[in-house]
Amino acid sequence: MSGETYVIVGGGLAGAKAAETLRGEGFDGRVVLIGAEPDRPYERPPLSKDYLRGEAERETAYVHPAAYYEEHDIELRTETAAEAIDLNTRELALAGGARLPFHRLLLATGAEPRRLPGAEGAHYLRDFRDSDALRGVLEQGGRLAVIGGGWIGCEVAASARQKGLEVTLIEQAAAPLEAVLGHELGEIYAAIHRDHGVELLTGASVEAIDGGQVTLAGGRVVPCDHVAVGIGVVPRTELAEAAGLQLDNGIVADNRLRTSADGVFAAGDVVNAWHPLFNARLRVEHWHNALEQGPAAARSMLDTGEPYDRIPYFFSDQYDVGMEYAGHATEWDEVVFRGDVGGREFIAFWLKDGRLLAGMNVNVWDVTDDIQALIRSGAPVDPARLRDPDVELASLA
Ligand code: FAD
Repeated sequence: MSGETYVIVGGGLAGAKAAETLRGEGFDGRVVLIGAEPDRPYERPPLSKDYLRGEAERETAYVHPAAYYEEHDIELRTETAAEAIDLNTRELALAGGARLPFHRLLLATGAEPRRLPGAEGAHYLRDFRDSDALRGVLEQGGRLAVIGGGWIGCEVAASARQKGLEVTLIEQAAAPLEAVLGHELGEIYAAIHRDHGVELLTGASVEAIDGGQVTLAGGRVVPCDHVAVGIGVVPRTELAEAAGLQLDNGIVADNRLRTSADGVFAAGDVVNAWHPLFNARLRVEHWHNALEQGPAAARSMLDTGEPYDRIPYFFSDQYDVGMEYAGHATEWDEVVFRGDVGGREFIAFWLKDGRLLAGMNVNVWDVTDDIQALIRSGAPVDPARLRDPDVELASLA
């Protein structure tokens, strides 16, 4: 592979970790990392949390120190958009007309916020620029209407309350986070936000946003000084689509993160890859997935890859409530709780056919490995033992 050029499109966490791994595994060809943003790769979780609140420096979010890329002979090209992939000539067309030949290519183009029609003037949150703009709003104070009670909407609402703004959180479903966690857990998060002074409007859909107010279906008006929208993300697949790669809710890849095009790989938020453990394709929009899939894709580029079968994991911090979720549950028979739900120190377990699909620990720590082992084992679990805090989780796997 000496003398070959491996190109990574997407200077986010997945792309940066892939470049690091190529070098770490001894690849001595050319590595080019292309990112459309002006910043070198950074992690996004602080953008809705401490960075947004002005409590963390920009520097803490970067994946690597500034000198890292040069020191590791990684050609980092910021503010450079890749515009097209030519699979016949094996070249990438860059904005401005340059062409970059590649032997192997990794697409780590991430995702972008889903736009709400009619909300052109609203704040969205994906990158440093968005977070800086919203940070200005949080400094300014006033009334903030947050549309969408998913992770981003909930974290923005929490950060804004922590900065003293009046916050109305508008959610279409019956509870925030219901789409991922189900109604029971959604209600727990609803109570957390209400307890912190958020006006939470559920079952509410937006009809219009204009002139300092949000109008809901049915005519209710939410007066506000600022509007933030967090209604999910869509994978950035334009490049892949134009090149004819197979798509289905993202770029389709096998369990080694190989796309339908020879020598083209995908990782992070953009990929919908076959997961051997869940026997399904999964597209995961979380930090840990980008952190692990970037390196996994790099190893596949080097032909030393293994099937990627990490259990999806994510975390969220809202006020004084921290949580971690491991697993993948879309349908379940029951949710079993262990611990003090009212006191917001508990673990929730999603069960289907007597087996654990996912677990979420809220203000309880150091249990993720045990939860993951139990999911991975596929062992039948007795709900009574799951519920019982005297039974070691590790003994259940
Ligand atoms: P991205 O981070 O989206 O990076 C992709 C990069 O590729 C972007 O910089 C983009 O500009 C660039 N790009 C795209 N197309 C091109 C092109 N054609 N040419 C050049 N460059 C291109 N996850 C958690 O688990 N916990 C959290 O608490 C959490 N908080 C979050 C808070 C916020 C505000 C956001 C936005 C996300 C959060 N996430 C969290 C999700 C997590 O940040 C993402 O899963 C992760 O960023 C995905 O990384 P990625 O490298 O796949 O894609």
